[in-house]
Amino acid sequence: MVPLKDKVVLSNGLFDTTRANIEAAGATGIDLPPSDALTAHAQFGGNMELKAFDAALQKHEGKIAFVVMTVTNNTMGGQAVSLANLTAVSERCKAKRIPLVLDACRFAENAFRIWQDEPGGHQRSLEDTAKAMFALADIFTMSAKKDAIVNMGGLLGVRDAQLAEKIRVELIRTEGFVTYGGLAGRDLDAMAQGLHEVLDEHYLEYRFAAADYLASALESDGLPVVRPAAAHAVYIDAGAALSHLSEDELPGQSLACALYLAGGIRSCEIGNLMFGSGSHRRQLVRLALPRRVYTQSHIDYVGAVGKDVAKVRRALPAMKVVTEPPNLRHFSAALAPVTPFPHFVDD
Ligand SMILES: *Cc1c(COP(=O)(O)O)cnc(C)c1O
Repeated sequence: MVPLKDKVVLSNGLFDTTRANIEAAGATGIDLPPSDALTAHAQFGGNMELKAFDAALQKHEGKIAFVVMTVTNNTMGGQAVSLANLTAVSERCKAKRIPLVLDACRFAENAFRIWQDEPGGHQRSLEDTAKAMFALADIFTMSAKKDAIVNMGGLLGVRDAQLAEKIRVELIRTEGFVTYGGLAGRDLDAMAQGLHEVLDEHYLEYRFAAADYLASALESDGLPVVRPAAAHAVYIDAGAALSHLSEDELPGQSLACALYLAGGIRSCEIGNLMFGSGSHRRQLVRLALPRRVYTQSHIDYVGAVGKDVAKVRRALPAMKVVTEPPNLRHFSAALAPVTPFPHFVDD
């Protein structure tokens, strides 16, 4: 079945597996972020570029299945989307009767940034800011592993009653009855609690402060990062840090391996291995900060390892792909360094 054959999906930035699902359904996913989203260090670098969006709405008229706004915009350095931008996208979708989908897994982090940094943001409570975001969408999907603070599960919400009914029927065949959707009661309780706790201002303030602290440490080590830092992760600009390597020499992979070799730090490349050769993206490395896991001394340790790696960054080798699966290659490809990594002394 190819339900979205020849259709197009427009987005501020599709998450990798979301893109893969859209493509598996026969559609083409098109990301429309600002061209300087990762270098301008603007307050809301996760926004949709409205000029490009307007042009794409015209160009693909009649073929657009839906629009996805990812909040926060994970593949674009985890940056936030402003309520003004979300409103502008929503208005255009309504006028053209195109469904707007929120990929809402970090809705609370996004709401916090609107509340704290967008002009007029404080006129609403944080909770009402989150509600204002959802009010603009027709559908939302959410990985509950993120801002519902649980180990597993997700949520799907739709306004259209007929569509909801279709999904409920399908759900029984695939995940389970609508009251549990494949999850245990205990996990559903945890999710309900997590959705409240995640909107605690102090919790969110602490998350952003921890990420900002790590971003500053890495920057002073000589590793440039995307600013303002997201709460869920700090993104190193590996292409800039390892400027002796071309995009196809996979500087993000090289830096990720070096962080692991030097100190056991696990990170994730978001660059040409993930998006393919010629993606013309920044080559990023994401250091994710799981919720309620790390203390300050852990973060200081990551900063110290970053320093060791930064000292030898110009000596880090190009990486080559040895084997790769036909799609989503970054999950299971095997890579090798073209020349050996420097030796990291374990003192
Ligand atoms: C994690 C994530 C997903 C996928 O969630 P899973 O629960 O891992 O399937 C989708 N979109 C975004 C933006 C994410 O960060």
